[in-house]
Amino acid sequence: MKKLITKKDFVLVIIVLVVSLAGLILVNSADKGKTATIKVDGEVVETLSLNEDTLVEFNGVVVTCENGEIYVKESTCTDKVCMRSGEISKSGEGIICAPNRVSIEIDGKNTDLPDAMTG
Ligand SMILES: [Zn+2]
Repeated sequence: MKKLITKKDFVLVIIVLVVSLAGLILVNSADKGKTATIKVDGEVVETLSLNEDTLVEFNGVVVTCENGEIYVKESTCTDKVCMRSGEISKSGEGIICAPNRVSIEIDGKNTDLPDAMTG
């Protein structure tokens, strides 16, 4: 018969669980950006935390942060490509509104946006 788990063992199990869980969360959130940089004319005008729901407007582009995702809610531009870009939340993702010269980038390991991305 195995003896019952002692209190000491129980604490150890909890510690192991917490550590592995933390590791899991870290791995899962590796791709998730933590902040987003908004630029107008290539100049940083705002840095948003993806953890906070917020709404800001620059150059007629209404940028919304909701549930860790960023999207363009409204824009005065004509093509509305930025609005159709949808939500972004991963490092390196971005939305560009070329007519209004506004760009939104999720910060992370890969912040360089391809030159082909316009809108
Ligand atoms: Zn636009």
